[in-house]
Amino acid sequence: MTERLSPRAILDKLVSFPTVSHDTNLPLIDWVEGYLSSHGIESFRHPHETDPAKAALFAHAGPKVEGAVVLSGHTDVVPVEGQPWSTDPYEVVEKDGKLYGRGTCDMKGFDALAIWALVEGHYGDLKRPLQIALSYDEEIGCTGAAPLIESMDKVLPKGSATIVGEPSMMGAVTGHKGGQGFDVHVRGFEVHSSLMHTGVNAIMYGAKLIEWANEMNAENQAKTPSDIAGTFEPPWTTVHVGMIEGGTAHNITALDCRFGLDFRIVPDETREAWSARFKAKVAEVEAEMQAVVPESHIALNEQFYVPGLLPEDAGEAEALVRRLTGDNAPRVVSYGTEGGHFQGGGYSTVICGPGDIAQAHQPDEFLTVAQFEAGTQFMRDLLAELAG
Ligand SMILES: [Zn+2]
Repeated sequence: MTERLSPRAILDKLVSFPTVSHDTNLPLIDWVEGYLSSHGIESFRHPHETDPAKAALFAHAGPKVEGAVVLSGHTDVVPVEGQPWSTDPYEVVEKDGKLYGRGTCDMKGFDALAIWALVEGHYGDLKRPLQIALSYDEEIGCTGAAPLIESMDKVLPKGSATIVGEPSMMGAVTGHKGGQGFDVHVRGFEVHSSLMHTGVNAIMYGAKLIEWANEMNAENQAKTPSDIAGTFEPPWTTVHVGMIEGGTAHNITALDCRFGLDFRIVPDETREAWSARFKAKVAEVEAEMQAVVPESHIALNEQFYVPGLLPEDAGEAEALVRRLTGDNAPRVVSYGTEGGHFQGGGYSTVICGPGDIAQAHQPDEFLTVAQFEAGTQFMRDLLAELAG
């Protein structure tokens, strides 16, 4: 008979795979697939559309009926380059009640609990099914979740409640802002700056778009927040430019200016509306540029889109997590997750996972043993609930 690994043993294994988002996650997926299969659990892969080095995986335990609870985690982690680690980041090192290692907190700790619970559920007597969904590319814009959900919906009986196990100290988190990023490339026309009226300075036109971001922030801040927006800090949609480059010399009108412009959108406003407003401003600035030099232009590249998680009215997933944890505090967070994709796909969705988001992405990332145990207890309680 195949060994049933403890949550800790599964965590050790998962952390040992350096699944940084820009690298392959296949060795981890192979291992999970093999482990589940050794227990007679069939799992399904969703290969990345363009990158053969990545795949997502999902699996089902319990009766083949709709209404599963889905445990959702990502398999990728952020890089360790340039971070001062005191231990090998790809080995779980336990010290002073903490489990150190890249991804222990974000979020292989939860992944390990989900895999453990699925195997326990498989051997138990579930009346209601349990599913796991392990994605790729979460850390680079949550781009793996939507195709994974689509693929699950085709193969498995559809689940109804999703728990996204991002670190929340095992509290129920019901909402977060959405995110939309753009790469902006302003292409101007170079002339000597003494004749700047005949050129198009990409930096100076780019500055108009950045000033628009400032105006939007001021306008949003001045508005009375909606009930939903009011739960966030800050309670409005923000527009941010975090990096910029451009220009050649003091006395040349800049040919190029590139910058990244990101929206963090309160979940009762839409990215469509904000994108449309931004694009209208881009068109206005571009028209001014082209009135000087017709071939100058602005190119926009959509970098990522993370839909917001909208707090649900009497949501099933929230009710389930509150029942199991006894946590009744209202809570929204500032980070994005795959939760909005699940919610958009027709699942009631809540965030609940072990660990503190403050540890995520840090050198010497850790998950406390106490949080890992709290997560294990949560899974036991969940299994008991699913067994009716
Ligand atoms: Zn995460």
